[in-house]
Amino acid sequence: MQEHFIMELLGIKDKHVELWDMKEENREFHFWLQTKQRKQTCPNCGTKTKRVHSYRTQKIKGRLIEDRPVKIHLRKRRYLCTACKKTFYEKVGFIKRYQRHTTSLEQQVLTYVGENSFKDVGKMAGVSTNLVMRLFDQRRIKVQRILPAIIAIDEFKGDADKEKFQTIIVDVQNKKIIDVLPDRLSKTIENYFRKCDTSEVKVVVMDLSKRFKDAVRKALGNPLIVADRFHYMRQVYWGFDKVRREVQNELRKEDRILCKRSKELLWKSPFKLTDDQKSRVKELLKDKPRLQEAYVLKNKLDEWFKTSNSNTAKAGLERWCELAENSNIEAFHSVVGTFKRWKTEILNSFVYLYSNGYIEGVNNTTKVIKRKSYGIKSFARLRKKILWRQIVREVSV
Ligand SMILES: [Zn+2]
Repeated sequence: MQEHFIMELLGIKDKHVELWDMKEENREFHFWLQTKQRKQTCPNCGTKTKRVHSYRTQKIKGRLIEDRPVKIHLRKRRYLCTACKKTFYEKVGFIKRYQRHTTSLEQQVLTYVGENSFKDVGKMAGVSTNLVMRLFDQRRIKVQRILPAIIAIDEFKGDADKEKFQTIIVDVQNKKIIDVLPDRLSKTIENYFRKCDTSEVKVVVMDLSKRFKDAVRKALGNPLIVADRFHYMRQVYWGFDKVRREVQNELRKEDRILCKRSKELLWKSPFKLTDDQKSRVKELLKDKPRLQEAYVLKNKLDEWFKTSNSNTAKAGLERWCELAENSNIEAFHSVVGTFKRWKTEILNSFVYLYSNGYIEGVNNTTKVIKRKSYGIKSFARLRKKILWRQIVREVSV
């Protein structure tokens, strides 16, 4: 291998570093490095000197190469000041003072932190979990304070600093998380908005949470509030599933198991069913009038959702609410209540259709966050990790 190529692999940019030996042993790479002898300034008196006093070999961990550990044996030179007789080590650009690893390994560790737990990164890079966390804590990140025209507010279960839920603020058009807030209280969100430049905000997408709505009204005045499609449609599916479970519990054992296994089949939109699936659904609903009624209502709303536009959505929603209210399905009565309270915001989602991208992007992100953030107790770290993950991903794309 060529010397400059190895220096590149090690992430060493210092032109005064030379390679004088290397070997590969037990999956580990070993490199022997030294710097060229050159004029030094005495840290004690400022005199220039080139006189060597002694040498010492220091073992340093380097950036992994092909996921394999790298040991650097650095021959460090001690200089003697001819004026004041003090001795001192030369400065080496690729390691920080008192450290036993290269700065390029630190960068690698931080990149790994984007997608992995602190503990796993420690194992991958051959350093302690404590070092990983220290490097991460020291790393500063910039947070956007000017909010874009379309934002979304959502909550997720992060379990940090004894708060079960945290809030994320999302840039809908760029599918980016702008910030993470420590809880989901109205006051917290309001205070956050007051710290930002919100003059550009025109639309806010949110789930059906009164806390979010209150905060937006207080801090932002009157932007257009759009109910997130995923969140309000989910209510109907949950309501339907409640009925399915109730009906299921009254069945004999064999039928109960069959019904339990058919959750996905029943959730599926009837347009998407194959002929075989259609007859299975028919069989499942036979002699179960309550389930049948709920099934029809669920599908009616699904159809409304898929076929309405901003002109037809209102009448369609009102029709559905009336049907659901007059049905015997209690689970849907409370859905109707919610839909009536959020009617304007739900109808707004037919005027501003971009919330689909928001659904895919953000819900996937929150799922990953939930999985990866498992075990992070400190909110500050959790927040930083979510934002850092995004930065690392942007760079590596
Ligand atoms: Zn000196």
